[in-house]
Amino acid sequence: MTGLKRKRLTSDQYYKGILQADRAVLGKAITLIESNLESDKILSSEVIEKCLTHSGNSVRIGITGVPGVGKSTFIEAFGLYLANLGKKVCVLAIDPTSQLSGGSILGDKTRMQNLSAHPLAFIRPTPSGGSLGGVARCTRETIVLCEAAGFDTILVETVGVGQSETAVHGMTDFFLLLMLAGAGDELQGIKRGIMEMCDALIITKADGENKTKANRAIVEYRNALHLYPAALSGWVPKAGICSALTGEGIPEVWKLIEEYLLLVKTNGFFTQNRANQEVQRLHETIEQLLKERFYQNFETVEKIKQIEQLVKEQKISAYMAAEKLFER
Ligand code: GDP
Repeated sequence: MTGLKRKRLTSDQYYKGILQADRAVLGKAITLIESNLESDKILSSEVIEKCLTHSGNSVRIGITGVPGVGKSTFIEAFGLYLANLGKKVCVLAIDPTSQLSGGSILGDKTRMQNLSAHPLAFIRPTPSGGSLGGVARCTRETIVLCEAAGFDTILVETVGVGQSETAVHGMTDFFLLLMLAGAGDELQGIKRGIMEMCDALIITKADGENKTKANRAIVEYRNALHLYPAALSGWVPKAGICSALTGEGIPEVWKLIEEYLLLVKTNGFFTQNRANQEVQRLHETIEQLLKERFYQNFETVEKIKQIEQLVKEQKISAYMAAEKLFER
């Protein structure tokens, strides 16, 4: 599309372009979602609303693991495998560290070069700036647009630190945890809660001398996974090994996911889980809007300044002060 960079499209033009899988339009619509301008927000909500009825026909896979575990190498190998099966693969990311470090996920354009060159793949770096909540919202909305554009396999990458896994877990159907072998049994700084959330734990870099270690570690992790209470999905989390370098174990990861999908689509959990995620999203949005509108109110802002002083001077407790502001 010529002049696309400069020209602002109407919501209908965005919508039509997305449905036609026009990547330039899709990319521009995602940029719109990431914008903080009030006018962009209105336009992007219109586009999202239009796209919603065409979204949902996909599998959404969350992928996490500490930096260096091999996430991007895995995603490239796994994504290529899927694209070669004819799947339309979209890779998104949530990187809460991007504000501090300039981005460890997908920041570097040379990452996933082969996958990004594949005609069936689409890669979008993590939205930059803003709170985790804001970044997560952008990624969720991007999923809607990508699905409307026909992408049927959505991979959402995140680093194994902070709260971002919970955010990614809350927007995906399947949660994959990548781990290294031989890093001791302290589970490499991965919190217990993340192990509890995962549907599969895959030990990466199982090649060369590392393979024996990986095979040994898998026994340990299988035992650890069995200690957790049964998941609502009825699925027992699986552990496996793979090498993105040799490609060994990559098809098996997909097989696992297919097995999972068969189970949860039969027992109703797939639909139920997505519905619950939507409800969760509703509450998050309410909270966010309440907060935004509360602080946007000019009178409140003025009053807060006065009350802050009273709190500092210990003339009123913080709790009472907040109560007073709400009374207004
Ligand atoms: P990320 O930070 O989790 O995205 O990790 P990267 O994908 O950037 O990988 C970190 C390092 O591990 C890089 O030097 C990769 O070349 C290497 N690596 C990734 N996957 C494999 C693998 O399957 N086998 C081997 N031997 N090295 C790997």
